[in-house]
Amino acid sequence: MKLQLFITKKVTKHYGTTTSTKHLFAVIDSDKSEQYPQNFVSVLPRNIKAIVKPANIFEEMFGDQSLEMANQLLEKALTLRPDAEIVKAIRERLKLLSPKLINKTNCHNCGKPISQSKSRYRVYKFCYDCHKEGYSKN
Ligand SMILES: [Zn+2]
Repeated sequence: MKLQLFITKKVTKHYGTTTSTKHLFAVIDSDKSEQYPQNFVSVLPRNIKAIVKPANIFEEMFGDQSLEMANQLLEKALTLRPDAEIVKAIRERLKLLSPKLINKTNCHNCGKPISQSKSRYRVYKFCYDCHKEGYSKN
């Protein structure tokens, strides 16, 4: 398998005026064929969740590695020096795939990620273990 992204622009026009431009991200296997759509593997998912049940072919194929694989494909597509518009679309995808930073902090002592409680009143600075050991007193 030699996977890469095939990004196409889909322009919607209404009476000759562009109403929307969308980029479609397809994952292709250039080992399979040099030509699209013969080499089509799957669409690149917009976001990849912690997988309970694979949501699409891509996640079915790569399972736990879906997120990593998607990021790799996007990074690789960036190195091919696409035009500015596509670069923007790729960056948006990378952002969508990156874990949500809100509510996520790392322990100030050991650096372990802490999942914050839903309440906004309190932001934990230390993970449970460090907290227990009394680092919070410093
Ligand atoms: Zn800690």
